[in-house]
Amino acid sequence: GAAEHSPAVIVGTGYGAAVTALRLGAAGIPTVMLEMGQLWNTPAEDGNIFPDMLNPDRRAMWFKDRTEAPLASFLWLDLVNRDIDRYAGVLDRVNYGDMSVYVGRGVGGGSLVNGAMAVTPKRSYFEQILPRVDADEMYGRYFPLANSMLGTNHIDPEWFETSRAYQFARVSRKAAHEAGFQTAFVPSVYDFDYMRREEEQLVPRSALASEVIYGNNHGKSSLDKSYLAAALGTGNVTIETLTEVRDIAQQQDGTYSLSVRRIDEHGTVLGVRQLTAKYLFLGGGSLGSTELLVRARDTGKLPDLGEEIGRGWGTNGNVMLGRANHSWDPVGELESGMPALGIDNWDDPVSPVFAEIAPVPAGIETFASLYLAITRNPERGTFRYDPGADRAVLQWSESQGQPSIDAAKRVFDRINEVNGTSYRYDLFGDTRAFESRFTYHPLGGLVLGEATDLYGRVNGYRNLYVTDGSLIPGSTGVNPFVTITALAERNIDRVLAEDIRAA
Ligand code: FAD
Repeated sequence: GAAEHSPAVIVGTGYGAAVTALRLGAAGIPTVMLEMGQLWNTPAEDGNIFPDMLNPDRRAMWFKDRTEAPLASFLWLDLVNRDIDRYAGVLDRVNYGDMSVYVGRGVGGGSLVNGAMAVTPKRSYFEQILPRVDADEMYGRYFPLANSMLGTNHIDPEWFETSRAYQFARVSRKAAHEAGFQTAFVPSVYDFDYMRREEEQLVPRSALASEVIYGNNHGKSSLDKSYLAAALGTGNVTIETLTEVRDIAQQQDGTYSLSVRRIDEHGTVLGVRQLTAKYLFLGGGSLGSTELLVRARDTGKLPDLGEEIGRGWGTNGNVMLGRANHSWDPVGELESGMPALGIDNWDDPVSPVFAEIAPVPAGIETFASLYLAITRNPERGTFRYDPGADRAVLQWSESQGQPSIDAAKRVFDRINEVNGTSYRYDLFGDTRAFESRFTYHPLGGLVLGEATDLYGRVNGYRNLYVTDGSLIPGSTGVNPFVTITALAERNIDRVLAEDIRAA
C-alpha cells in the first residue's frame, strides 16, 4: 500500500532529537520520532526499571551475550562483567577495532545511561571549535535555555563536604590541590536534593545504590522527563519505539522516503515498512546519523552527498585512568554514582585536561581514585561504508589515542609524584594505566559548516537536517550534552523561521 506520510520525521530521541521535537510540536507541526531502543517506563519483576551496575542483567546492554563495562577488571580479575541474555537493553558498546563507543539505546538516548554532568564549555574554547557560530547568542540565550530546560542544578557545597558518598571526590580533590591543580564543582541533571534525601534514607536510592551507566531508577532528569515530556505535551509529537531507520532516499517531489525496521525486544524482525516525510531531521547521535548518510551516499540513494559526510569524528579526547591511594586515605564504601567534581586544568596551554572524578560504586573500599579525563586530542577518524556488512565502519587506530594519554599523563604523573601515589594497572583487562580505546563522547561525522551549512542543513539536499552530536567537530572540552542541546535549540530556531514557517 501507499507509504505513511508525516510532515516531519525525526530519527532518534536523544538530545538533538528531543529539542527538535519540542520546537516542531510547539509550532504545530505533526512530528513522528523513530527510536530503535525501548521506552523505559515499566518496572521488571524486581520492581525496578533498570538494573544497578553491580548486578547487571539483560536490561543492561543492547544485544550482547556478556556485559562490556568500561572497567574491565579489578585486581586483574574479571569480576565486573556478567553473562546476560541478548535483549534490547539500554547501553550499547559499538566496537570498531581499536575504538569502542558507548551509546544509550531507548527513548531519551544517552540521557538514560549518562553521568548527568551538565557542563557548559568555556567560551574561549567554544569559539575555537565553532568559530562561525555566534558565541554571544549561544552564551546569552541558548546555553541558559538548554540548562533550564534540562533541569541543571548545583550541589550544595556544604553538603558536599559532609556527605559520605563524596568522600571519594574529596580524597581526589586533596591529592589534586597538593599538586597545585584546581578543582571545580560540576553541575548536574541529577537532583542533588533527592540525593541528599537518599543519604538520609528518606527515599529509594539510585545514585547511592550503584546506579549509573545502565540507567537510574530515580533522581535523574533524563530527556523522557524533560524535553520529550514537553514535546509529547504539545499533542503533535508521537514516538515509535523498537523502530530503526535503515535507509533514506529522496523522491521525485523532493520528499524523503525512509525504510524502517521494527523488532521486538528479543531482536526478532517484525517487519520493514516505508514512511515518507517532507522534513527529515537526523538525531541518531554521532554514530547513528553519520551511518545513515554514509550508507545513503555510498549506496547511491542520496548521491549528491559529498566527501565531508563521515569526516571529522573525535573522542572528545576521552581517556580513563585510576590511581592507588594510600591505605590511610580511604575513599569510603559508599560512592555516589553521579560525579560532582572535576580537576580543571583546561587553561594549561600544553596539556589542557578536564578530568571528572569518577566513582567506582563497588560497595566496598577500593582505595582507588578513578578519572575520566577530557583532553584536546587533534586526531580525527573517518567513517567508511562496508557493503558486506551494510555498515559504516570507523577508521581509527590505537595510536590516535596517544595525545589524550600524553596530556593526562602530564597531570597525573605530577599528582602521583607530589602525593607519593601510583597508577592502578589492574583496571583495563591488561596492565595499562591509561585506557583511550573507548569513548563516552562520540562527536562529529557530520560537522557543522562542513557536511552541513551553519544551521545543520545537509549540503546538497533541501529539508534534510542534522541535529545531534555529529555536528560538533570531535571535541567540546567538557562533557557534551549541554553543547549538543544548546546548538540544537539554536539551529531549530533558524530552521523553523526560514524553512518551515515561511513555506
Ligand atoms: P544520543 O543521545 O546518542 O541519541 C541517539 C538516539 O538515536 C539513541 O537513542 C539511538 O538508539 C537512536 N538511534 C540511532 N540510530 C538510529 C536509527 N537508525 N534509527 C532509530 N533510532 C536510532 N555527556 C554529558 O554531557 N555528561 C555526562 O555525564 C555524560 N556521561 C556519559 C556516560 C555514558 C555511560 C555515556 C554512554 C555517555 C555519556 N555522556 C555524557 C555523553 C552523552 O550522553 C552524549 O553526548 C549524548 O547522549 C549525545 O546526544 P545525541 O543527541 O547526539 O544522541
